[in-house]
Amino acid sequence: DQIASYSKSNFGPGKTGRIPVGIGNRRLRIVVTGGAGFVGSHLVDKLIARGNDVIVIDNFFTGRKDNVVHHFGNPRFELIRHDVVEPILLEVDQIYHLACPASPVHYKFNPVKTIKTNVMGTLNMLGLAKRIGARFLLTSTSEVYGDPLEHPQKETYWGNVNPIGERSCYDEGKRTAETLAMDYHRGADVEVRIARIFNTYGPRMCLDDGRVVSNFVAQAIRKQPLTVYGDGKQTRSFQYVSDLVNGLVALMEGEHVGPFNLGNPGEFTMLELAEVVKETIDPAATIDFRPNTADDPHKRKPDISKAKELLNWEPKISLREGLPLMVSDFQNRILNEDEGKGL
Ligand code: NAD
Ligand code: UDP
Ligand code: UDP
Repeated sequence: DQIASYSKSNFGPGKTGRIPVGIGNRRLRIVVTGGAGFVGSHLVDKLIARGNDVIVIDNFFTGRKDNVVHHFGNPRFELIRHDVVEPILLEVDQIYHLACPASPVHYKFNPVKTIKTNVMGTLNMLGLAKRIGARFLLTSTSEVYGDPLEHPQKETYWGNVNPIGERSCYDEGKRTAETLAMDYHRGADVEVRIARIFNTYGPRMCLDDGRVVSNFVAQAIRKQPLTVYGDGKQTRSFQYVSDLVNGLVALMEGEHVGPFNLGNPGEFTMLELAEVVKETIDPAATIDFRPNTADDPHKRKPDISKAKELLNWEPKISLREGLPLMVSDFQNRILNEDEGKGL
């Protein structure tokens, strides 16, 4: 089976004499950094469900215990409060490295910390992967393409990124993280995998994280106007979180380093997105135009032919199917918040 046949595990740097995971009935042991966050917690659910041992490392900057609380008490689950900027010693077979704030509001909050997380955090996790011979997957981002001059974006495109702008802590940070991953791969033989994730949404996104889907959904539920930045004609391509999780696992288990675009090619302007949110939650919702943020990419749409061909992966859930799947989670949390305030 999948666990017994996973032959690259070793828990040690030696090239020979590695102990296959199946021996002694030991299960595949996996670290998920950032596993208490939005994407990470959905990934953890999948790994636990298929029988793996999972260790989550998280400093709870944007993650929450609530996202993983349903695994507390499960002996196959461990949660470590730790900042990946500091070194850590562990013995595992695979490292999914997600730790990094993803919403522009969060990553701009302390840009130097964001850079440290991307550079020192990724360096530490690669050092760990090297020492124990674990396979390492980096969750990079479509932001490495910056404000793209090529559309849709293929993995071969090198990007159009402002190195000194407000978004640089994140997009240049991720570009450096990709560089580090490739250097550990070429120089130290670490088995790396690189995913370039496009805008993803779903249950457990932070309520007020400033990302457009979470903002619009929360605003529509609270009967507030939907805040469209700029003229609303900029585009994004929105992927439902379960599609992403399936892509990340396919990438980790496959034989290809990447980078791979993981995203849904369905492209929407922010005004179109606002319409879908209105249809789904409140047709009476109004729109409030606000000034846009600096360096906002004008358009973004993944070319996913590489992932389709080499990973046999493609997203299954359209925006109109996926949005309703996050509404009840948002409604419950907004209700709890209101009750907490005594409303
Ligand atoms: P998130 O903010 O919900 O999750 C990030 C998690 O990392 C949180 O639990 C946070 O507490 C933790 N974290 C942050 N800094 C840390 C540190 N120094 N040490 C330990 N833990 C730390 O974001 P998300 O949407 O779940 O994104 C997960 C990953 O996917 C990120 O690396 C992000 O860059 C990447 N990504 C996400 C999207 C998206 O649309 N969601 C798009 C592109 C890339
Ligand atoms: N590292 C870690 N856990 C380990 C091994 C390494 O956190 O199990 C960190 C280590 O502290 C260092 C980084 O990963 O900061 C890079 O390690 P590497 O061995 O590649 O480089 P070096 O320590 O030789 O600079
Ligand atoms: N945006 C918007 N209203 C909001 C939040 C964001 O119109 O309340 C816009 C934002 O200007 C950008 C797009 O939505 O053009 C996507 O922004 P998000 O922060 O979700 O992701 P990213 O910019 O990282 O793709």
